Amino acid sequence: MKLKIETSMRVELIDITSEIQEEIRKSEISEGICLISTQHTTAGIIINENERGLKEDILNLLNKLVPAGAGYSHDRIDNNADSHLRAVLLGASEALPVSGGKLELGTWQRIFFAEMDGPRFRTVNITLLRA
Ligand code: ZN
Repeated sequence: MKLKIETSMRVELIDITSEIQEEIRKSEISEGICLISTQHTTAGIIINENERGLKEDILNLLNKLVPAGAGYSHDRIDNNADSHLRAVLLGASEALPVSGGKLELGTWQRIFFAEMDGPRFRTVNITLLRA
């Protein structure tokens, strides 16, 4: 199934854990694997804690590692090389076990859609495999 997301900033982390859990509930799959992926080249899927300061720290880290407009070749045709490069660091998917009808996440773990070139309309694919 596909999850539609409308992002509102150029760079932001959006917690999509509840939406994914809801799809698992509807699927009535108790044991299996949940693959969360995105087909965009300027966005990522990551797992971490949903704490306001930490989300800021993650975005600041990406900004430090991949500053905008640092002479990238892709900027000559599209002017968003930093967005692609940040997405490369994040990765486009995460796979998690499903147990007892729930995602096997740690106490503080949440799943985020990481927008690196918004605001845009985005799609996340949720693929469920029954064990
Ligand atoms: Zn581009």
